[in-house]
Amino acid sequence: MGRNNYGSYFLMDTKDLPSYIKSKIDFFGNDEVLTVDEIGDGDVNYIFRVRGAEKSLIVKQAGRVTRVDPTWKLTMDRGRIETEYLTVQRKLTPGSVPEIYLYDPVMGAIIMEDLAGYTLLRKALLERRRFPTFADIFSTYLVNALIFTSDVAEDHLQKKEMVKQFANPQMCDIFEKLRNTEPFIDLYNRNRILPENLDFVHREFYEDKVLHLEAAKLKFEFMNNPQALIHSDLHTGSVFVREDSIKVFDSEFAFFGPMGVDLGNFTAHLFFAWANADAEPEQAANIVAFKQWLLDMIEEMFGLFAKKFKAAFTSNAADVLAKTPGFCEWYLNTLLVEAAGVCGLELARRTIGLSHIEDLVSIEDEKRRARAECLVLRLAKLLILNRDRVVRGADYILMLQQAVEDEKNNHKE
Ligand code: ADP
Ligand code: MG
Repeated sequence: MGRNNYGSYFLMDTKDLPSYIKSKIDFFGNDEVLTVDEIGDGDVNYIFRVRGAEKSLIVKQAGRVTRVDPTWKLTMDRGRIETEYLTVQRKLTPGSVPEIYLYDPVMGAIIMEDLAGYTLLRKALLERRRFPTFADIFSTYLVNALIFTSDVAEDHLQKKEMVKQFANPQMCDIFEKLRNTEPFIDLYNRNRILPENLDFVHREFYEDKVLHLEAAKLKFEFMNNPQALIHSDLHTGSVFVREDSIKVFDSEFAFFGPMGVDLGNFTAHLFFAWANADAEPEQAANIVAFKQWLLDMIEEMFGLFAKKFKAAFTSNAADVLAKTPGFCEWYLNTLLVEAAGVCGLELARRTIGLSHIEDLVSIEDEKRRARAECLVLRLAKLLILNRDRVVRGADYILMLQQAVEDEKNNHKE
C-alpha cells in the first residue's frame, strides 16, 4: 500500500503508481509486474503510463498548482469536469474520446485508456503528415458534441441541470484573461512578444479601440452564452489522430459556452500548422502540397460541418419554435461568426500572450519566426474585425491571402 493508503491527497510519483492502480481498479493481475513512466509534457498536470505484460493505461493526476508557477493555484475540480465531459461525449460521439476507467476525486486522478497507437495532431502536422479523412471524422464529432448538448435537441430542463453540473468558473476565468483580454491589454505584464513585433502589437492590438470594442463583444459572448457543452481548449494538441480515427481529450476547461468557440479555436491551430510550413526556407514541393492540403481541409471541414449541422438540426430539433423555417440557418450563421472571432482571439493569444505554441516557437530563424508571427497577427485581426463575413472555409482563406499580401507590402516599404 502507498504512503497513506490513498485516502488523502498527495502528489504521486512513479513509485506510487503500481500499488495505487492495483488498489483502485481491477485491470492488471495482482502479481503482475508493472512499469511506470512519467510522460507528461504539459505545464499543468502529471501524466503516467502504467504498463503490464499485455496492456497499459494512463493516469493523469492534477497538481494543486501549475508546474510552471507554484503560486498559480488551480481548482482540483478540473479532473471531475474533464471526466464528465469525456463521459458525456463518449455517449454522443462513440469512439471519439478515450475511455475513462475511474475518476478518483481524492487524489484528483483520472485513470483512462492509453492512446498509445495515436499521434498528437500537432506533432503529425509538424511532420507534414496528411489525413484525408480528418475533416469528415472531426466535423461529425463537433456537430454531435454540440447539437446534442444544446437546447436544439436536449430537453430544456435537463440542459439547465447540465449547465450547473459543468459550472467551471476558475478554468473559465483563465481563458477570459488569457484568450479574451490579454492580447488587447497586457493586464498582468506577462505577455511575451518578439522584439521585432513590439511596435506592431502596441499599435495594432494595444492601442486600437475599434478592435477592443469587438474583443469586448466576444468576451461577453464567451461569458454569457451557455449554448452547448464545449471543450473550450480544443486544439491540435488536444486531439489524437490515426489514419481512420480521432480521439479528443484534455477537456478540463469544458463548460456550457458558445458553440463557435470549439470550431474557431481549433481552426486557429490549423493556421499555426500552415504558418510553420510557410516559414520553411525551402518551399519544396512537399511543403507546398502540405500547405494546400491544409487549406483544402479547412474548406472541407467548414463545408461538412455546415452540412451535417443542418441535417442534425433538422432531424433532432425538439423545440417547437426551433423548427421554424430560417431559424436553423440563422443559428448556424451566428455560431460560424462567433467561430471566426474566436479563431482570431486564439491566433492572437498564442502569439502575444503567455502560452506560446510549438508551431511558432520551433521556427529557428528569429526573423522568419517574427514574420510568421506578424502574419498570424494580421490574420487574427482581420478575422475579429470581419467575422460577420467569415462563415465558409473559403472566407478564411481570403483573409489569409489578405494577411499575406499586407505582410508582403509591409516588407517592401
Ligand atoms: P495537460 O492538461 O497537463 O496539458 P494532457 O491531457 O494534455 O495534459 O496530456 C499531456 C500529454 O500526455 C499529452 O500531450 C499526451 O502526449 C499524453 N497523454 C495524455 N493522455 C493520454 C492518453 N490517454 N493516452 C496516451 N497519451 C496521453
Ligand atoms: Mg490540459
